Amino acid sequence: MLYFFAPDASADDSYGNPASIHWAGRKAKAAIDEAREAIARAFGIASEEEIVFTGSGTEAVNAALKGAYFHAVQAGKRFHLITSAVEHEATLETARFLESLGARAYFLEVDRDGQLSETQLENLLASLATDPENFTVVSLMAANNETGVVFPIRRIGKKCQRYHALFHVDAVQAIGKLETPFSVGDSLAQLVSFSAHKIGGPKGIGALYIQRGLKLVSLLHGGAQERRRRAGTQNVAGIVGFGKAAALLDPEETARMKELRDYLEAEVERLVPDVRIQGKKSPRLVNTSNLLFRGVRGDSLLMSLDLEGIAVSTGSACASGTVNPSHVLLAMGFDKEEAKSAIRISLGAQNTRAEVDHFLSVLPQLVERIRAK
Ligand code: PLP
Repeated sequence: MLYFFAPDASADDSYGNPASIHWAGRKAKAAIDEAREAIARAFGIASEEEIVFTGSGTEAVNAALKGAYFHAVQAGKRFHLITSAVEHEATLETARFLESLGARAYFLEVDRDGQLSETQLENLLASLATDPENFTVVSLMAANNETGVVFPIRRIGKKCQRYHALFHVDAVQAIGKLETPFSVGDSLAQLVSFSAHKIGGPKGIGALYIQRGLKLVSLLHGGAQERRRRAGTQNVAGIVGFGKAAALLDPEETARMKELRDYLEAEVERLVPDVRIQGKKSPRLVNTSNLLFRGVRGDSLLMSLDLEGIAVSTGSACASGTVNPSHVLLAMGFDKEEAKSAIRISLGAQNTRAEVDHFLSVLPQLVERIRAK
């Protein structure tokens, strides 16, 4: 394709391929560089060179875990993956896939409040550390996508350091919704997965933080992009959108979401009998409410709320459309019926008190009607 120098042709700004060295390519590359810097600043990443853009949060998790696995295999080590039973499918299914290749995977249990046993983790790390042939990776989410329950990431990071295990954090759900913003530096992780759409950025763009010097085998081969760590022409528009969303993160919005969520939960408990809020005793994201209405099918309530123009989820959004009980609630010790009786409400920065009041005005009758059937 031949195109001409157009110094102020703003319509052409997005045309260039960031791998090209002509002016249009350089413009696209500069836009990517700017986004990388904004993301590094927003998430406590020491150097923007440690960020690799991916096609989604799911791809970032796959790149971290499979990349570490293939590196361990190349080094002639035995690969062990410690994760939890409440992770997103991106981690759970990757763990099962790696098991099929010969890795060992361990799924830590959680209690009724969604917290894992740090003693169980430490015992496992200690026993695996006794054999120098083992290569151990711990992969845990900073916050759960169904309940909002937050794991003590820094404490876990310290344990991983003590036992020389590699630490991957799935921070997809946590960014922008923690009272103290998520920081890669504080997490002590060597690998961290991100996704733009969870902070109002475009869908289909994610990132993996890879600590400087860490060796991973790339998931994609075929080009020198992303410092040879992820081949393929970058999604320039997605990356720019991700950078903008990261730059626009505002702690005041986080505080406002928490106020609205607390109001919603207090009112739900006042207005509807027999409701349980999951993870209420644990540290939680500011915007997530997992409500279990006994005797109510979550998918029936979801459809009734949908008719009122209110969008909620049952289980994880990524599993919607199926009526399987939530694997997160099952792991927390709820039975199958209970695990089908919950809905998840995720508030966004744009949600208003009037919208929450509309939800509260219709919810009691809808729950009553479904219970009466
Ligand atoms: N990890 C968690 C905790 C998530 O909640 C999600 C998506 O909801 C993902 C990973 C996957 O991210 P993406 O939708 O960008 O593939």
